[in-house]
Amino acid sequence: MAGKKDFYELLGVNKDATDQEIKKAYRKLAMKYHPDKNQGDKDAEEKFKEINEAYEVLSDKEKRANYDRFGPDAYNSAGGFGGGGFSGANFDFDDIFDMFSGFGSGGGFGGFSSRSSRNTAKMPRKGQDVRIKLTISFEEAAFGLKKEVEIPIEDSCQFCNGTGAKNGTSKERCKTCNGEGVITKTVRTPFGSMMNQSVCTDCNGTGERIIEKCDHCSGTGRIKSKKKISIEIPGGIDDQNILRVSGQGQAGYNGGPRGDLQVVVAVKPHQIFKRDGYDVRLDMPITFVQAALGDEVEVPTLDGKVKYKIPEGTQSGTVFRLKGKGINVLHSKSRGDQLITVIVEVPKSLSEKQKEALREYAKITGNEVNEQSKNFLDKLRDFFKD
Ligand SMILES: [Zn+2]
Ligand SMILES: [Zn+2]
Repeated sequence: MAGKKDFYELLGVNKDATDQEIKKAYRKLAMKYHPDKNQGDKDAEEKFKEINEAYEVLSDKEKRANYDRFGPDAYNSAGGFGGGGFSGANFDFDDIFDMFSGFGSGGGFGGFSSRSSRNTAKMPRKGQDVRIKLTISFEEAAFGLKKEVEIPIEDSCQFCNGTGAKNGTSKERCKTCNGEGVITKTVRTPFGSMMNQSVCTDCNGTGERIIEKCDHCSGTGRIKSKKKISIEIPGGIDDQNILRVSGQGQAGYNGGPRGDLQVVVAVKPHQIFKRDGYDVRLDMPITFVQAALGDEVEVPTLDGKVKYKIPEGTQSGTVFRLKGKGINVLHSKSRGDQLITVIVEVPKSLSEKQKEALREYAKITGNEVNEQSKNFLDKLRDFFKD
């Protein structure tokens, strides 16, 4: 193991980092380089191994102290990961499962959260989550919908019962590890010899080897396919919300439960409406004549057009509220409101006749401003006095 990288550097933390900081840094990196997310990427796989190795040492008080004293070479990397598998010895399964599926140790099948390094590959494990993106319209997000989606899915091979061994053939005991699933090595270090266990790479920790591979799954025990399911999206869901459908992910391993389906919802923006929590906002232009004299106008809402009476003397920027015309409140029968912001438009191009009418208007009013503006002008004058 020449040219070993510094464990602190690998996790991107200082030498005096607290346990919390180390854990945090590790989680972030483990998430990034997890094999599920980087399928077939050898570099990511290598990096994932390295950060796990680093974390294994730095998260353990005694190991960390030794590492600090003797440096990286005190740790032979015999511990760690077997093959491309993700069933390593000394691995903190609780951590990984908290991260990837929210399936903590309280998940309901015994023995799982045990940190024993023996034959972890044989233990029931939850299948991976499947994540899809679903784009829906503004209205669909507001009121909800039922939708059929096609999802990629991985099932346990029915021909070999997920064992990977050809029907009728049996498995033989792995000679490399003597059926133990792990290999124990004695490692000499400056502070004495240590026992170091690692997962057997020849059998991926199962302790058994397939004699004849199943034709249907090429010995993997898994079959990939696509599946259509109907999902119900509740009204009130928002952009980037993740809908979790439990038990619709990939099949579990060794009798473990299926993973979940995660639907990442993308909501298309609306042409005229904007969302504000459960309220819908609308900017509505009106003419200055409508604003001054008042008018009954048609207002578009999510339920279609409604009539609304704008009162006389409405100022630009006034917000009117249409109760209950907003978005469905998630998991409830109530709805938000629609908020209409009135924008009074000053006409840009006027005909000569229109201009004449306005001049006439100005003559009558003598360019008088209303009370509010008058007070403001007085204050302005006072401000510039001295
Ligand atoms: Zn098979
Ligand atoms: Zn083996």
